[in-house]
Amino acid sequence: MKLMYLLIFADMVMLGLALTFTIESIHEKEPRATKFGGAGVFAALVIFVLIIWTPAMRLSITVFFLFGGLFIFICLIPGKPNPGLLKGSTSYMLNEGKRFDERDIVFARARMTKNGSSEQAGIYRRYYEKHPEKEEPDAKRRNKGLIGKLGKIDNCQTSSIAMTKAGFDIPNLLGPHAVAQPQIPRVDLSPEKATDLVKNFARHIGADLVGICKLNPQWVYSFRGELHYENWNDWGKPLEDFPPFAVVMLTEMDREHVSAAPHTPSVAESANDYAKGAYISTVLARFFAHMGYRGVAQHNRHYDTLMVPLAIDAGLGELGRQGYLIAPKYGARVRIFATLTDMELIPDRPISIGAEEFCSKCKKCAEACPSRSIPSNEKVLYSGVEKWKLDEELCFDYWSKIGTDCAICMAICPFSRPYTFSHIIVRWLVARSPVVQKLFPILDNWIYGKKWRPRKVSPWLDYTTRTN
Ligand code: SF4
Ligand code: SF4
Repeated sequence: MKLMYLLIFADMVMLGLALTFTIESIHEKEPRATKFGGAGVFAALVIFVLIIWTPAMRLSITVFFLFGGLFIFICLIPGKPNPGLLKGSTSYMLNEGKRFDERDIVFARARMTKNGSSEQAGIYRRYYEKHPEKEEPDAKRRNKGLIGKLGKIDNCQTSSIAMTKAGFDIPNLLGPHAVAQPQIPRVDLSPEKATDLVKNFARHIGADLVGICKLNPQWVYSFRGELHYENWNDWGKPLEDFPPFAVVMLTEMDREHVSAAPHTPSVAESANDYAKGAYISTVLARFFAHMGYRGVAQHNRHYDTLMVPLAIDAGLGELGRQGYLIAPKYGARVRIFATLTDMELIPDRPISIGAEEFCSKCKKCAEACPSRSIPSNEKVLYSGVEKWKLDEELCFDYWSKIGTDCAICMAICPFSRPYTFSHIIVRWLVARSPVVQKLFPILDNWIYGKKWRPRKVSPWLDYTTRTN
């Protein structure tokens, strides 16, 4: 009799987990996972009937649950956290890396023209004399426009485009106010008090995750290249004087919008997050100024630094195969912003969440990428940094073809799933167990499938019906 009650208990646990997973999968619009969950619920009900009415089956059911228990036990055996990752972004640097030149990034090159003012024409000539191989592909890219015809994939549906442009307008307006100089003599605060104040304030004004790091000069651009306000005099200026601390902030991208990738809701959500990030980082910069310190906002109209390494150093996540940060709660569905300051703060420690190990096996983003920009092989050494090297130019060419920022690799990533019961458990296991890190990429493909298909969105977000 005791055995029967034990079996019923184990079966109820199985039923509870399967039911939760099924309900969550329905909410997530994951039909394949819903079927898996439903099969689990059905199996648990059948087992219940067998336990009660077929005593001869109890031995087999006991063996089944013992194997299940053994599997769970093996998954709970913790491995050692990746010691390299705990050193932060420097663990990716295999030799003394050169600082990145902002003039080389594809966005900066796309803004150059030989037909503008004499200053612009001079900049154009000087750049392509040094990099003649880039002139022709850059000219083609420029002709198409950086993101092509916005919303082309959805026949330029008006309301989606309006939402996107509205979002992108905000960093444009705030960009000239990114640098805030001290307005009063310094307010004296202990680093502990200052850190607590700054983190809480950043969360209060809209950041979803906040971390702090010392600014590693390696990640500051060597020369200015991205110009947004006709300030051509700044092109090629060395970036030398930067505050020593970075408050790094993440905003979560809405899952429903991202799940429509590569359609316009995903780029509208990118724009929305850029707007939020510009607001948060600028307000924080001004906060520092009104406390007597420097504040320099980092958002998409004013970057001095690379954002992903800063987020890694601030303990906000790991670098994924697709080149995005993978954050603990939100996976790749985040945008990163920062405010640099000379207020003394206490840095956070880098973290290991098992993403690197998971990515080594997973490759889901690489297989789903329509432009084949994400490598499915091993990491390479690039500019002194060991990484999976994304082919940004192929990726941007795809953006200009469809007129959005695509985001399939962000949407399909298993880490980007919502922060619900099932995924919290899986994330917890992935962060700790070497077995789970190797096995779950395979399970994920079984349960969710390998191919990407955009999910249906709420009626107000419908991008298929013309609004004009
Ligand atoms: S999809 Fe897979 S391989 Fe790509 S970043 Fe996410 S976990 Fe890593
Ligand atoms: S954004 Fe799209 S094209 Fe670019 S790497 Fe990701 S999946 Fe590939």
